[in-house]
Amino acid sequence: MKILKTKDDLKEAILNCKHLGFVPTMGSLHKGHISLIKNSQKKSNKTIVSIFINPTQFNDKDDYKKYPKNIIRDIQILKKLRVNFVFIPTVKDIYKNKINSKFKLKKSEKILCANKRKGHFEGVLEVMDRLLNLVKPKFLYLGEKDFQQQYLINKYLHKKHKFKLIICKTIRHNKMALSSRNLNLKKKSLKTAQLIAGELSRIKNKYKNYNFRIKNNKLSLIKYLENKYLIKIEYLDFRNIKNLSISKFKTKFKLFIAYYIDNVRLIDNF
Ligand code: AMP
Repeated sequence: MKILKTKDDLKEAILNCKHLGFVPTMGSLHKGHISLIKNSQKKSNKTIVSIFINPTQFNDKDDYKKYPKNIIRDIQILKKLRVNFVFIPTVKDIYKNKINSKFKLKKSEKILCANKRKGHFEGVLEVMDRLLNLVKPKFLYLGEKDFQQQYLINKYLHKKHKFKLIICKTIRHNKMALSSRNLNLKKKSLKTAQLIAGELSRIKNKYKNYNFRIKNNKLSLIKYLENKYLIKIEYLDFRNIKNLSISKFKTKFKLFIAYYIDNVRLIDNF
């Protein structure tokens, strides 16, 4: 595996690579990331993983500082998986001095995480635009866990970069989505979060039923979950998967949630 630390290293290493599969990450790799990598290895000639904790997508400095880092372990995992390239740039290398995002979300797109985390997706789009300019992959692998992220990346960047987007299903442990942020949870909260995930999955399925929906409206569900599990729900929404509009329950929908437990913010969708 080639470890690429600068843009120049990267350009040189992939010069003659066609059909590259690209898995962008922020590191602290877990089985969710690994499933994206394995999907890429099945389909692409060569696979490149990036590890870059992108400062511009953090709306809270403290959250950026606390984001888990495990670069030595990450490299070991990637070597074992026989990944071809890992790109680990510095903030300076990616941004020089220009750290502002040129992307602006429409008002109608400021929903779910975009409503609660100011500038988050603008930062995600900016870094993805820069990474895609460098890597020029044929296939881009993103997780369904960050549903709104893959939706916006596809909407804003597909035309320009012409990647084929492969959405990979969410990998779970005891019903809970794996996430690097889970490392910041106390053991007890991890257990609670697993129970919450199980309950949310059941609620999502019951929501297909009209009578259940009438009896359990969104606000009463939020109250019930907050009281039962002692969490703070940032949003809980049922939305169509095609355009993320509020679901009328006639076409395919998902339950989207963001909540705080142990001061750690978790997101998921079911
Ligand atoms: P991150 O390192 O959290 O920025 O995630 C990098 C990529 O891995 C994103 O495309 C995520 O959606 C994806 N990912 C994160 N967690 C999971 C999971 N539990 N299952 C599948 N994909 C995931």
